[in-house]
Amino acid sequence: METDMDDGCGCSEVIDPPPKDKTLEGAEHVKESSPLASKISPSVIDNVRELLECPVCLNAMYPPIHQCSNGHTLCSLCKPRVQNRCPTCRNELGNIRCLALEKVAASLTLPCKYQSFGCIGIYPYYSKLKHEAQCSFRPYNCPYAGSECTVVGDIPQLVAHLKDDHKVDMHNGSTFNHRYVKANPHEVENATWMLTVFSCFGQYFCLHFEAFQLGMAPVYIAFLRFMGDDNDAKNYSYSLEVGGSGRKLIWQGVPRSIRDSHRKVRDSYDGLVIQRNMALFFSGGDRKELKLRVTGRIWKEQ
Ligand SMILES: [Zn+2]
Ligand SMILES: [Zn+2]
Ligand SMILES: [Zn+2]
Ligand SMILES: [Zn+2]
Repeated sequence: METDMDDGCGCSEVIDPPPKDKTLEGAEHVKESSPLASKISPSVIDNVRELLECPVCLNAMYPPIHQCSNGHTLCSLCKPRVQNRCPTCRNELGNIRCLALEKVAASLTLPCKYQSFGCIGIYPYYSKLKHEAQCSFRPYNCPYAGSECTVVGDIPQLVAHLKDDHKVDMHNGSTFNHRYVKANPHEVENATWMLTVFSCFGQYFCLHFEAFQLGMAPVYIAFLRFMGDDNDAKNYSYSLEVGGSGRKLIWQGVPRSIRDSHRKVRDSYDGLVIQRNMALFFSGGDRKELKLRVTGRIWKEQ
């Protein structure tokens, strides 16, 4: 059985600039000068970018960058997967770190990868990832709940996708009056409804309504999510009302950004929660069918 001799270093997935002092035995301390990028031509930058592409996974490499004794490089995530053989020349890989390339990378500045979505930021190589994780232009995940949909995009793209691919109901206006009906007793227990999208104030909002278990108790929850970032979501409020036979439940809340997953919002109960018994009471009838009228309003805070 082949054993991987190189796995003992415990240095996986470190995405930090190369250490400046300790590991550079005997090396000159390189000055933290201004990025080279402004002084070197774009074609040189492209060449360096190419050098920084892992030949296996094709992703950009971050320290520790590894190399074989012939100088072929490899990223730290791919290294444990290649059985100690250089994927380029098949020689033994060993445990050689490519500090020179790590240092060259530190001198690069590159545009944010969401440039095509409108970000104009340019970042040093090693802080680019950090920015991209928080970039406000980064695409959103599809907000459709209960599916494994992997579509990402900006808001207009997602609105079109919800309409065309998920056949979601689209409504214009800031007030709504929705009837949720399940006549089949089995469906009353695991009721899920298609999401509804509201368009008002030049923005889009997703109204979710579904059954879930709150601890042991079967409940229904309705909540609104804002199709945009959290900062903008806070500019809006909404209310939801449900009732019957002279009783009424009212919820007032702040829509959550779709950056927060549907599950996260639901599991924090950030919405109108209706106990099933209450929901069946509001439904009237013989308590076997669910017939809820949910009204609501979205408004902009000043
Ligand atoms: Zn790789
Ligand atoms: Zn090699
Ligand atoms: Zn960005
Ligand atoms: Zn989708």
